[in-house]
Amino acid sequence: MTQGSSKAHKKSKPYIIGVDLGGTKTLTVVATTQGEILLRKKEETPASQGPEVVLAQIQEDIRQVIQLQGIHFEEIQAVGMCAAGFYNHREKVMVKSPNLAGWTHIPLPGILEERIGLPVFVENDANAAAYGEFRLGGGRGKSHVVYITVSTGIGGGIIADGEIFHGSQGYAGEIGHFSLDLNGPQCKCGNRGCLEAISSGTAIARQAAEMLAAGRSSRMPEVAAMDGRRDVTARHVFTAAELGDEAAAEIVDRAIKYLGAGLAGMATLLNTEIFVIGGGVSMSGNSFFQPLQKAFFSRAAGPITENVEIVPAVLGDEAGIVGAVLLAAEEYALGEGGLTE
Ligand SMILES: [Zn+2]
Repeated sequence: MTQGSSKAHKKSKPYIIGVDLGGTKTLTVVATTQGEILLRKKEETPASQGPEVVLAQIQEDIRQVIQLQGIHFEEIQAVGMCAAGFYNHREKVMVKSPNLAGWTHIPLPGILEERIGLPVFVENDANAAAYGEFRLGGGRGKSHVVYITVSTGIGGGIIADGEIFHGSQGYAGEIGHFSLDLNGPQCKCGNRGCLEAISSGTAIARQAAEMLAAGRSSRMPEVAAMDGRRDVTARHVFTAAELGDEAAAEIVDRAIKYLGAGLAGMATLLNTEIFVIGGGVSMSGNSFFQPLQKAFFSRAAGPITENVEIVPAVLGDEAGIVGAVLLAAEEYALGEGGLTE
């Protein structure tokens, strides 16, 4: 029985704690090492109170999910965390986070490991989401995957040969700040004509507001009013376009054409197999994906891009946390014996 209990010991860390640290909400989960989420807990992120308060909250959330799931601390292999921001993956430092006040040069995994007593793996949220979709979502079975989220902003992550492509510091994949229009609208990054400033949900809503302010006749305000809103959002623009509204169709057409051109550029550079598109704007289904494919192939360069697929993401808001859990499970996998048995 001694051997049996030794095997049991090797397999006795079946859980990963996942943390998705966002600017407004923090999601903490208990998951298996295979990426299956067993328990979820969502809390407001006390972002305005600075890193110390946020870190204390993360520590407390982890304690609570362990208790709620009724598991032992000793059964946890590691913590996998994702967060928005410039995470330098070589130095393991959160250099800057746009949504978290005061987060500059914070050695995030080091601090948490010391406080929690577990190994902690951190990854940028878009990279983690790319990994989640690659392993268990829309990019499953492929090796060269680009994940793009089109919501209020546009973010992305690159999987090359089955691994996250980090670039020199960990910041690769920022497709939202591809500058595609030299004289285009101002982007919040300081540049002009970035994809994010043309095709994101925020940009689509801004263009609708500009058209309406210029006196363009459109059903967009009517669609927004039916939704109980005074301001027109990207979703209203898509709905109005589907109803045959010309002004809305123009905005959608432009947003999708630029996105298609951006994807074509990426595919030419990376020889991508598949683009997995997530985020609120991509929820518009065929009225988004069909013209996007058309725009992509009209811009794509010959054999490099011939067989590229463009598909919707399947893991939704949880792509990042699933990716973070899987990355932590792989980084801190138990010894060979434990894995093969
Ligand atoms: Zn930009």
